[in-house]
Amino acid sequence: MFKFFFMIILLPLSSYGSSLKSLNHQTQPFSLPSLSFKIDALEPAIDAKTMEVHHGKHHQGYIHNLNKALEAKTDKISLYELLANTSKHPLSVRNNAGGHWNHSFFWTLLKSPHDKSKMSNALKKAIVKQFKSVENFKEEFTSHALGLFGSGWVWLIKDKNGRLQITTTQNQDNPLMDVASTKGTPILGLDVWEHAYYLSYQNRRSEYINKFWDIVDWTQVSNYFKEK
Ligand code: MN
Repeated sequence: MFKFFFMIILLPLSSYGSSLKSLNHQTQPFSLPSLSFKIDALEPAIDAKTMEVHHGKHHQGYIHNLNKALEAKTDKISLYELLANTSKHPLSVRNNAGGHWNHSFFWTLLKSPHDKSKMSNALKKAIVKQFKSVENFKEEFTSHALGLFGSGWVWLIKDKNGRLQITTTQNQDNPLMDVASTKGTPILGLDVWEHAYYLSYQNRRSEYINKFWDIVDWTQVSNYFKEK
């Protein structure tokens, strides 16, 4: 009867660092990455309660369901391999592997609105080349986010030719998946599921997107842009 008490498992928070490589190469069992900032650090852009539920419940839920969906598999498949071969797996793997990758990536892109961050010259040059100006890029990204019907993500990706593109995906899909209509490596992403903003903004998605720009860690985005 005492066995029951030992069934409480402590789930350690893991840290992948902030490289696409470490994010992509993790294997099951997957675990919740710790945040590099305090739960209320993103206020007023994203409130503490939203962060608590989004990270601790939603993200944790994707991880739990992904581990469960993969339980029968004994071989260790990397998160990247799961995404790149999404079409060969059940929908539960697609949704939850996507959910885990997307949220792990998203947290690393964010910083307190009081902290400074700097876009590298290389990234700035690439953005200006593709979108004419940084302001224009933000406008286009925002209009994609507003135009996305239902739940999904907006991405800035580097395609296989190194060219920047804005793209959107439904649900928890992402541009690393073989099922994605536009493929590439994400360097910036925005969660536009209502769970990401509803407590503070309700139906006002445009205000959430507007505030998002105050908490983007451009130093990190620049690192993702540079990463091979
Ligand atoms: Mn989310």
